[in-house]
Amino acid sequence: MDIKAAVVRQKGGPFSIECIQVDAPMDGEVLVKVVACGICHTDLIIRDQFYPTPLPIVLGHEGAGIVEAVGPGVKTVKPGDHVLMSFAYCGTCPSCLEGATSYCWHHMEMNFSGKRYSGSGWTIPAPLSKKHSHGGSEQINGAFFNQSSLATHAIATEGNVVVVDKDVDLKTLAPLGCGFQTGAGAVFNTLRPEVGSSLVITGAGNVGLAAVMAAKLVKCDPIIVVDVVPERLALAMELGATHTVDASREDTVEAVKRICRDGVRYSIESTGSPKVLRTAFEVLQTRGTCGLIGGAKLGTEVSLDMTHLLFGRTVRGILQGDSKPKKFLPQLVKLYKDGLFPVDRLIKHYSLDQIEEAVADMKSGRTIKPVLLME
Ligand SMILES: [Zn+2]
Ligand SMILES: [Zn+2]
Repeated sequence: MDIKAAVVRQKGGPFSIECIQVDAPMDGEVLVKVVACGICHTDLIIRDQFYPTPLPIVLGHEGAGIVEAVGPGVKTVKPGDHVLMSFAYCGTCPSCLEGATSYCWHHMEMNFSGKRYSGSGWTIPAPLSKKHSHGGSEQINGAFFNQSSLATHAIATEGNVVVVDKDVDLKTLAPLGCGFQTGAGAVFNTLRPEVGSSLVITGAGNVGLAAVMAAKLVKCDPIIVVDVVPERLALAMELGATHTVDASREDTVEAVKRICRDGVRYSIESTGSPKVLRTAFEVLQTRGTCGLIGGAKLGTEVSLDMTHLLFGRTVRGILQGDSKPKKFLPQLVKLYKDGLFPVDRLIKHYSLDQIEEAVADMKSGRTIKPVLLME
């Protein structure tokens, strides 16, 4: 069928809005009419080819919508279901067998190869193509996080969609499947701070601010947010931060130690900058843990003081907030409905045609989380 999609054809973009074709769902797949899709930092680093994902491709991995059709063998999802889409995992590797699906040993192939997984390999082309007026058809890469949802329709799988109640606001909660679960999950699932634990969060973007909301709920204190944009720091205070540090004006380590003399028990690094990761490590107290969430270019290195590390400190990489989406996303939906996880404060809506404007606003810091509406 014909769909409208944002196609990246060259490194650095732009996203071009094109009419392309999507195949019918295969075994285990579902066709979703996309209602909304958030734009995540990871879409932009793939557009910029930080990872060797093939082009042309349809990106988008924070999709939400309504199931239109299901392929053979799908048992738990049916047409008409409202779904949030999340990341792909194989279900059979050692990580998946232990329930740590975001660390699937095939995470890179399944989410970033531009191709789709059928159980027999990762070489099946994505279900996307483009008919040309002069005849012939061009293969378009997709299956990005098993969705490629920067489009009016997406092929996902039974495994990476989460069915939600029909009263759930898909236009607001589309980003639960990546950005928001990543920030909240780092607190709820990974670090699990005790009441009263001190916490530093570097980066007040959508992931960092979702972590602030979660930290408030589990009663971290103090919650110190570090950024360089005053408006974001002000918003962090409204959402639960107890202190902020403007890293463009003062030294972060000194500022944190004025609040917590011996450093903090936990830190969460969401910017993907090696310099900031080093800072998030330096602010830790003895036996403190730094959770790294921010993704950097492949091969990026960081230097750490070995003696500081030796004193029981931990740096822990965290993918997708250690979330099991089918269990965790309904919990986040409940918190949102109860007013305890107000992610609507972070969102601005755009139409699919406004994608370049949305990306520019995200980059400049004017918009924290752009969400594209497909109609
Ligand atoms: Zn993402
Ligand atoms: Zn796996």
